[in-house]
Formats: sequence, structure tokens, C-alpha cells
Amino acid sequence: MEMMKAAVFRGTGIVRIEERAKPAPRAGQAVIRITTTTICGTDVHIVKGEYPVKSGLILGHEPVGVIESLGEGLEEEYFVGQRVIVGAITPCGQCFYCLNSAHSQCHGPLGGWRFGNTIDGAWAEYLLVPDARANLAPIPNGISDEQVVLVPDIFSTGLSGAESGNVRVGDNVAVFAQGPIGLCATLGAKLRGAALIIGVDSVPARLEMAKRFGANVVINYREQDPVAAIKTLTDGRGADVAIEALGQQITFENALRATRPGGTISSLGVYSGKIAAPYDAIYAGLGDQRIVTTLCPGGKERMRRLMSMVATKRVDLTPLVTHHFGLDDIGDALDLFSSQRDGVMKVALKPAGVADSPRVATTLTAAQ
Ligand SMILES: [Zn+2]
Ligand SMILES: [Zn+2]
Repeated sequence: MEMMKAAVFRGTGIVRIEERAKPAPRAGQAVIRITTTTICGTDVHIVKGEYPVKSGLILGHEPVGVIESLGEGLEEEYFVGQRVIVGAITPCGQCFYCLNSAHSQCHGPLGGWRFGNTIDGAWAEYLLVPDARANLAPIPNGISDEQVVLVPDIFSTGLSGAESGNVRVGDNVAVFAQGPIGLCATLGAKLRGAALIIGVDSVPARLEMAKRFGANVVINYREQDPVAAIKTLTDGRGADVAIEALGQQITFENALRATRPGGTISSLGVYSGKIAAPYDAIYAGLGDQRIVTTLCPGGKERMRRLMSMVATKRVDLTPLVTHHFGLDDIGDALDLFSSQRDGVMKVALKPAGVADSPRVATTLTAAQ
């Protein structure tokens, strides 16, 4: 049996490099050799034991790689050696949910999220891709791994916050939290034509990055009350759309309070326990507000669209890829990422090592 190296979840706080059988594709499946992947905040929740997955699972849901082998039925559309990405969410395209336009909920709640959740993920030398015809997205020529490694999840999720919120040309938008997803929500509000974009966080470097990703105004919530400041900036009304990108009671509640009557709260965060909506924040339930939640959109057409934004230089996600690690150093990478030390935004993980990549990105170019 051919073997491969993988980073395997072995219970709370434990991720080990192990030898695993290299996967082989059946009909309709593909195997890709992973060239670059990354660590998501969700992976940190899993490793801390805050989101349950089974011991023995290979984590990771942001695959960038090269087609290694194809199962029956895919030869006409794809070829071995082709560079592809796969969405973090891999809808089948055929089930009740997919056919009712809820692709991320494929087969049931959160069912579209399979990699590193219900099936082996991308922290490995090779990855088995289910429903490959619906999910393999070729990388445009001349585009590097680093340019697209945040497309499968972070960019797709962040942008979906603005899309689900139906941000319109001329809108006032507030984005609560400016981590990687919040920054991509800020970018999404800009792409959708918002006039005023307000980024809220407490980390100065993240607030600076928010300006580069499209915020006209940034608010440090340690220095001023963000709700009062947003009301002041919007003629006392509140934002047309508030995007929640953290998953905590305080940010959810502030997003409610900062949204005008008739406005939309677009929630991207991953919550644990209950969240509450105080009556005054929700206008006693009579404020004509909409609250929408979104799981990252996936599938190959979504990936194609987002990569075309990268290829045409309308979007540059590389400022967020701040550090590089080999897969063998997953422990160090997880430690750095979860502690948010050294200005880390996102790490690039390379199963083959980082010989050709700088360990720390030195060229930061502004988003268009
Ligand atoms: Zn993720
Ligand atoms: Zn489906």
C-alpha cells in the first residue's frame, strides 16, 4: 500500500503527524496532491475541543493542489497534473438541499462541510475529493498558490457576509471584527458598492489592514463605543447592513444595536451556547430587521468566480498570508496562529516543505 504523511486529530489539544494510506479515487472522485493549504479559526476550535470531530480525522478544509489521479467519468473534463483548488464546502449538486439552492447544507445541517469535519481533510500530502465534477476548480494560468489559498474558505465566507446581507450601492455597512473573515467581509462590502464601510476591532494592525481592504472608517472598540460611533456616522440611524464576523454575544448584540430599522444583520460567526437578542436591540421584535446566517459557499463555479477576481487583480488576498510552514511543523503553525503572535493573519502550510517559499512574507501589496 502506498503511504502518505498527514496531520491527524487525536483528541483535545493533540494533532500528530502520522503515516496514512494514500487515497485512491472511485468513480466520480479525484485525488489531488496538496501543494498549499492553511489553518482556519474553525480548526483551532476543533483542536481545543470546542467543535466535535472524531479522533483519527485528518483536519484542514482549504485545498490547493495538483490532480494526482481521477476516478472513472472525469477524464473528459480534467487531466492529471492540472492545478486546482477545491472549496471548503463540497456540495453534491444533486440532493434536496442542493436542488433548493442551499448547497452548503448539502444532505442536511452543515452537511456541505465535509473536509476535516466528516471526512479526511487537506492537512496531508494527498486528498480524496468527493463529487469531483461539482468541486474541482482549475487555477487560472500564472496564479500562485498563495494568491488562491484563501479562496476556498476565507474569501468565499467573508464575501458571502456582504452578499447575504444584500449590500447595495451606496449602503452604510459596519463589520464587527477584522480577522481574516471580517477583512474579507469588508472587502466584500466594497466589491458590492457600499459607500461607507466601518471596520470594528481592537487590534491596531487589523484596523490598518481593514483600511487596505476597503474600510473608510475604523473603530477601536477599546477606545470608543462602536454602536454610538456607528449611529453618529449614519445620521443617527444605524447601518443599513451590519456583518458579524466573530461569533460572540457581544458582537452579535452590537451588530443588532448598530443596525437601523429595516436593515440587515448578516452573521458569519460560529457561536457556542445561546445567543440573546435584548428587546431594545431588536426594537421589541418590530423593527423590520432581517437576520441572516451563512455557511461558506462552495462548489466549482463559486471558486471559478472568486479566482477570476484574483486573476483580474480586482482582489489581492496575499497580504493576509503572513507566514509559511511545512506540514511537519503543524504544531508550531497552530501555536502561532491560535496565539495571534507576530502579526500573523494566515499561515500557508506546505506538505512538501517551504524550500521555495519565504518563511515570512515580506511583500505586502494593497488590495485593489
Ligand atoms: Zn474554515
Ligand atoms: Zn447536495
